[in-house]
This record gives sequence, structure tokens and C-alpha cells, in this order.
Amino acid sequence: MTKTLKIILRSGKDDAIKRYHPWVFSGAIKKMEGPVFDGARAELFSNKDEYLGCGIYQDATIAVRILAFAPSRPQDFDTTFWEEKLRAAYRLRETVGLTDAPKTSVYRLVHGEGDHLPGLIIDHYNGHLVIQIHSTGLYGFIGPIAEALKTIYGNQLKSIHDKSRETLPASFWKDKEPSYQLFDETGMVEVLENGHRFLVDIREGQKTGFFIDQRENRQLLSYYVRNKKVLNTFCYSGGFSVYALNANATEVHSLDSSARAMSLTEKNMLLNFGKTGKHRSITADAMEYLRQTDEEYEVIILDPPAYAKHQHVKHNAVQGYKRLNMEALKAIAPNGILFTFSCSQVVDMNLFRSTVMAAAILAGRQVRILHQVTQPADHPVNLFHPEGQYLKGLMLVVS
Ligand code: SAH
Repeated sequence: MTKTLKIILRSGKDDAIKRYHPWVFSGAIKKMEGPVFDGARAELFSNKDEYLGCGIYQDATIAVRILAFAPSRPQDFDTTFWEEKLRAAYRLRETVGLTDAPKTSVYRLVHGEGDHLPGLIIDHYNGHLVIQIHSTGLYGFIGPIAEALKTIYGNQLKSIHDKSRETLPASFWKDKEPSYQLFDETGMVEVLENGHRFLVDIREGQKTGFFIDQRENRQLLSYYVRNKKVLNTFCYSGGFSVYALNANATEVHSLDSSARAMSLTEKNMLLNFGKTGKHRSITADAMEYLRQTDEEYEVIILDPPAYAKHQHVKHNAVQGYKRLNMEALKAIAPNGILFTFSCSQVVDMNLFRSTVMAAAILAGRQVRILHQVTQPADHPVNLFHPEGQYLKGLMLVVS
């Protein structure tokens, strides 16, 4: 059994925990008793010595990530504990029809706070699991987490890969290597999403290798592209492009500023359609391209990376979204469809919609909303942690 760190909170700081908010900020702590180290099992108490829950301690702004709320009081975060938690996550994916979907072999198994597992991401790629841990405290438990995954998936599990190198600070890796390595040298896995084939670059790709959160939005796009000329900006591995061409778009142009992303897109196009004259790859900056292009696009997708990672850069992010959307709104053909996204946590749907409205005013176009979309059910949002709802999208028709 791990030694326990007792944490007593300042008066009033227990309220958020009683409402099941999964974080304890360092400023909320009054006193700590016991072994203080990153990864310590921490028991939380109110100022009146009332047990509130337990989690993992880390010397950081978010000092404790809570894994169990009172009255639950697991004595150890061992394999049995993780098995129960991860099985619950698995069951949810079963409920939403993802664990045995004949045409989809890629889904998110664990979505951090949304699965009551703050700091933990696990994605499933056709039998290969990719773990991404976002706190050094939690990293100490990767062994029992992996053991639990082996039990849950049994012989359906092909490999486990640890992709926490990018999410934990460089200093943490000074004399360490990620625990679970690749199953083969290429690091490529082929998956199916709604019947479309994709190569996922687990080793070098962004995030865990693929933007799983856009699955339903890609499907939605496919209803609007028939006989249309499509521009997919910020295309990464070509998710929206593959759906668009499969749904009989006349032509699809994919754009990303990263040459590596464009090479992935080309591989995926080839995998699905062989050599086709209907696809063009453009390695460029999205904003500059939109500003100078003479092409008449009838559908444009804008899916930029998170412009604001923190609250204090929110204003700049909003300006960025406004300019980008303005350029797309100016460029799009009459009655065109603009599918525009923001994945910045700090920009909520209301702010995003008013930002797009400001862009429409500047572009002088009439705009109506057809769909307001978000992330799919394998990225659940904890009601008490609304920050977890990070993906927002608007499908617009532009007169
Ligand atoms: N739509 C994609 C995910 C987009 S991720 C999908 O469905 O998979 C964001 C992408 O934007 C990354 O591939 C990144 O390389 C690209 N990017 C970042 N800045 C850019 C810029 N200024 N112009 C064009 N692409 C950019």
C-alpha cells in the first residue's frame, strides 16, 4: 500500500469538491501531513476534518487530481483500482456502439475528466492502445494502468504505446524513457472510420496520432459536398478530405502548413481512392492562401489548432479566429458552406459564435447557421468540469 498524504483544505474550498469538481488548486491547501512527492496518494479533508475524496498529488498549480469522491475511499491505486475505472470507460464506449462497430475501429477509450480520470487520455486504434498522460504524478501509475488494459482487452490487444513524451516536461524525461514502446518500426496503424481507411502515425503524429474527435463532423460534412468543390484547410491527415471525395465532391483541395501532414493526407487519399485527379495538395499558411486564392470554393473547412491554450491569451485567439473566418467568408462562393471550428477550451460556443458574427460583418456576407456541433460521445464532458467541452463547430451557409 502506498503511503498517504493528508491534505487539509482552507475553509470554503471544500464546496467545489462536494460538487464533484475533479481538481484541487495549490492555493486551496491549508496544511499537508505525510509524504509529499509527485504521485503521492492524497486524501482530502475539509477544514472541519471531513473526508472529501482522494487522488494524486503533484507539486503544481493543480495540486491534486481527484480519482474518488467521498464516501468512496480506495486504499491503493493498484491494478484492481485501474481495472475498475478503465472497465467503466470501456463500457461507456460499448454503450455508444464503438467497441464492436463493423465500420469504425478507432475511438477514444479515456477522455480525462470526462471519464473521471483527470490527466489521462487513452485512444484505441484497431487493437493498438496509445496512452497519453498529462501529469507527472499520474505517470507513476502507468504500470498498473497498462496491466489493467491487458486484462480488459485480452487477446484483442495488439500493443500499448506510451506517447507522454510531448505532454510531460522535458526535465521529467532527463534520465527516463517512455515505458511502453512501439510494436513495429513504422509506427503506422491502419484504422477504419465510418468505412473510410486511415493510416495513423502513432510514433510521430500529432496528439495520439489522429483527430478522433471529428468523426461525426466528418460524417455530417459528407451530406453537403456532392458535386461541390471543397477546400479542407488545416487538414492534418486528410480526415475531412477523404470523406468529401468519397461523398462525390467534384474536387477536393487539402491544405496544411506542415509538409509531414500533407504527406499523411496523400497517403490516405491513395489508400482510399488510388491515384485520382480529383485531389490537390497545398502546403501553405491557411490565412495567406485564403487571402490570395482565385479558386471558387463551394465548401470550406476551417479546423485550426487551438489558438488559445490559456485564459490570458484568449483575446489574441479571438482576433485570430475572427481574421481567419473573415478571409474564408470573403473567399467562399455564393451559397457556399463554411464548416468552421475552434478547439480552444477557453473559447466557448457563445464567444465563438459572436466571433464568427464579427467576421461576417467585416466580410459583408449574410450567414445562417445550419448546424452547431461539438465532440462525440467518446469524448464525454463532465458536467462539473465544463472546460472539458473544448470542440465547437458551426456549419454555415453563406449567401
Ligand atoms: N482537421 C484535421 C485536424 C486539424 S489539426 C483532422 O480532421 O484531422 C490542425 C492542423 O493545422 C495541423 O495539422 C497543423 O499542422 C495545421 N496548421 C497549423 N497552423 C497552420 C497554418 N497557419 N496554416 C495551415 N495549417 C496550419
